[in-house]
Amino acid sequence: MSASPNHSGKATESYDVVVVGAGFAGMYMLHKLRGQGFSVRVYEQGDGVGGTWYWNRYPGARCDVESMQYSYSFSDELQQEWDWSERYAPQPEILKYANHVADRFNLRPDIQFSTRVERAAFNETTNLWSVTLSDGKTVTAKFVVLATGCLSNARMPEIRGLAGFKGKVYHTGHWPHETVDFTGQRVGVIGTGSSGIQSVPVIAEQASHLTVFQRTANFSIPAHNAVLTEEERQAFRAKYPEVRHFARVESRNGIYAEVPDRGALDDGDNERRSKYEARWNHGGLTFMSVYNNLALDKIANDTAADFVREKIAEIVADPETARLLQPNNHPIGTKRICIDTEYFSTFNRPNVTLVDIKSNPIEEITTNAVRIGVKDYEVDALVLATGFDAMTGSVAKIDISGRHGQTLNQKWAEGPRTYLGLMSEGFPNLFVITGPGSPSVLSNMMVSIEQHVDWITDCVTHMRERHLAAMEATKDAEDKWVAHVNEVADSTLYPQANSWYMGANVPGKPRIFMPYIGGVGPYRQICDDVAAKGYEGFVMTGAEQPRKVAAS
Ligand code: NAP
Repeated sequence: MSASPNHSGKATESYDVVVVGAGFAGMYMLHKLRGQGFSVRVYEQGDGVGGTWYWNRYPGARCDVESMQYSYSFSDELQQEWDWSERYAPQPEILKYANHVADRFNLRPDIQFSTRVERAAFNETTNLWSVTLSDGKTVTAKFVVLATGCLSNARMPEIRGLAGFKGKVYHTGHWPHETVDFTGQRVGVIGTGSSGIQSVPVIAEQASHLTVFQRTANFSIPAHNAVLTEEERQAFRAKYPEVRHFARVESRNGIYAEVPDRGALDDGDNERRSKYEARWNHGGLTFMSVYNNLALDKIANDTAADFVREKIAEIVADPETARLLQPNNHPIGTKRICIDTEYFSTFNRPNVTLVDIKSNPIEEITTNAVRIGVKDYEVDALVLATGFDAMTGSVAKIDISGRHGQTLNQKWAEGPRTYLGLMSEGFPNLFVITGPGSPSVLSNMMVSIEQHVDWITDCVTHMRERHLAAMEATKDAEDKWVAHVNEVADSTLYPQANSWYMGANVPGKPRIFMPYIGGVGPYRQICDDVAAKGYEGFVMTGAEQPRKVAAS
């Protein structure tokens, strides 16, 4: 850090890089940049590290990528020494891991907690960002890195009367730190995405009665979570070089798994069914990689969707409840597939009711009930599992202005525009980690985070070595990338679903397929090629102006 006098004569803290957010992206960004000798300050609005795992403390929250893979790979010592207790770690354990990393790499001294970044403005004369914080302070930095997370801006539903409800209201994405005990209570859960599907079975065990309000049924595959034995951990650790290499370079989604070599229609009914059965019994996200054309061919996709619908009918005793739980308005996998523990069988419990709010929407929430038509479903507590303003929501909350005073919100009014999901034209020296236009949420986030952090670090080091002042995506490169992202998405079934990938869950949000679906391995290759060609598609300008250093 350095300090230089500002116009009022007071010293302004100045950093090479300001990082926004201390989740897994921000923590690794700090570690990596600091290792290269950059001065870095991280601002985090929570009072601890962990990002999404800091906020999402709802009952049943756990990872849907196996923990031996949903973990940092940048330090072999770290991955060899950390003991994951279960195949899919629960949220408290993931948060403990984040805290362990913060301590092990001594990150905390460079993180300012309980501080939001309110504004960031680029000064075209100095080529510096001026960053205004919620504590009223302004700091300057040559680079700003948004490590704000893709799913961290919890979205409250707009339901009449919600504010007047007299019981407790919880959002899964903003869960209290203290234990919430629903014992003896009548609980209503609104929303049946991953968060609802994970929390429903756990809440059902506590509540006197649980009513699940479902607007859209979702496909869910059993996790078959289990305790990891020491032998299993050791076996996995021994093959880490192969696992990590595959996830980074060869995979499409950052997950080590068998690569399918045939399409669903290449097998006969019996063979196909037995493959689905085997994947169902194995559990987890790899269900969707049993064949190579499930995301591309609707008829192929239907075979997998029908299999899951049949499973739901087998598990759920009441035929009408089973029918309602069977998804029927989107191809399987085009909304993020859910991974559950006993979700469908929970509806066989006598204390659980499913209410279809697609055909009969919630009219209002009264002081003590959810009103649908003439019926009041009385509840003592409400759990809103209603999701996030994904991918752009957290960025949009910061007032970011680039060249000519244009704000990022103005530029992205019709949907996010980036080059490689890393930078947006008109906003020099501003990086986004796992931003829209990169594989991000379609991948194991850890793999994508590490790739972006490594790329950004190489890039700013390249600039430092050449004393370059500013770097910016060109309009032409950005336009071509946006077109490519759309073209690849349009060649799949994904745009057929009203998903948060499309921004469809937020009223008024432009419908654009936000993540890049071209695959983690190919995407990495593209980014590496861009760097190898001297950062093709970016302009790097000017010799750096000497910054006055008043104190250090
Ligand atoms: P989500 O997938 O967006 O699901 C939100 C649910 O709330 C949907 O069922 C939605 O219905 C419903 N909803 C929203 N607004 C509503 C309203 N006004 N009235 C009634 N229902 C409403 O959100 P999420 O479950 O929090 O999951 C988001 C993403 O976070 C996941 O897809 C996943 O990527 C990630 N996540 C991961 C894990 C994990 O790793 N294990 C766990 C949780 C979340 P519609 O579908 O009809 O809009």
